[in-house]
Amino acid sequence: MGVSPQQTLVGVCQRYPLKNRPHVNPTIEPGCSTLLPRAVCPESSCSSVPVGRSPPTYFSFAPHLSPTRFMDHPTVLALDFDGVVCDGLAEYFQTAWRAYQHLWSALGQSPPAGLEAAFGRLRPVVETGWEMPLVVRSLLLGVSETDLLANWSQMAPALIVQEGLTPNALTAAVDGLRDEWIQQDVERWLGLHRLYPGVGDRLQQWLDSGLPITIISTKEARFIRQILQGQGVAFPGDRIIGKEIQQPKAQTLQQLQHAALSSDSSTSPESLESPEFPEPVIWFVEDRLKTLQNIAQQPDLANVRLFLADWGYNTEGDRHAAQQHPSINLITLPQFAQPFPHWIAAP
Ligand SMILES: [Mg+2]
Repeated sequence: MGVSPQQTLVGVCQRYPLKNRPHVNPTIEPGCSTLLPRAVCPESSCSSVPVGRSPPTYFSFAPHLSPTRFMDHPTVLALDFDGVVCDGLAEYFQTAWRAYQHLWSALGQSPPAGLEAAFGRLRPVVETGWEMPLVVRSLLLGVSETDLLANWSQMAPALIVQEGLTPNALTAAVDGLRDEWIQQDVERWLGLHRLYPGVGDRLQQWLDSGLPITIISTKEARFIRQILQGQGVAFPGDRIIGKEIQQPKAQTLQQLQHAALSSDSSTSPESLESPEFPEPVIWFVEDRLKTLQNIAQQPDLANVRLFLADWGYNTEGDRHAAQQHPSINLITLPQFAQPFPHWIAAP
């Protein structure tokens, strides 16, 4: 197919679907015939644009354009836990309050009215656990929620210095107090976690249907298993990849991808070169925009369909950014409960 270098193009190479990388020009990959002008792309959300250092020589992939990637369902479903499956906000606040009491010598005090609700609204700004008591401190110092939401990434380091603390000291307080609490009363600690409405039933339906489903989380796998068990969901332990693995989620998705390919009985050395090769497609649901943006930048994960859970710990700005992103889909909780084709329809 003849293409003009001035056109905005999207496409993937059908002949070499596993390469998953931008290719310089369709004529360099023999057999590639799927580069299309954007106007031809049947996916209304497609907004792929030239990427790389030398546009328009390099082009982005549009995973939905490959016949195998037109699929309206995943062959492997991967889910984040906190903020997608489980709402642990009550636990976050209790841990944050305990750490605050410890760090600012406020033992014996009760949290003022409204503090927990405000903390919940600000939870999306927290990227790592040590920030939680700092959010509490900021609120008690009278910083407005609007300010915190808009400027937290600049405010947090300044506040650490102002308070004579370090991230390590904050981490030690948060992790140490949480560990102590778990050791003393794990049942109460687990009881502060709840599944989002309908999610437990949905998980069980997927498990019953035989869909390969994996939970990828920064929480320890043993706690995830216990929380799910407590909600009546018998989730296989070997499909929970938790904090103990100590690796980025992108790396875990790469491993899932490789595992899916190697376990696919239709895969043979010959079929890998076939245009019809049915490459497994992972769908990944996460509530943190930055995690999805990072994955979206990795060419070897181009066939992972990405979803931002709008019911999780993200801001209006995050959700708006997801809607504008060419390869991230915003999904609502009602959509999540629906059959997979509804996930990629407009809410
Ligand atoms: Mg999360």
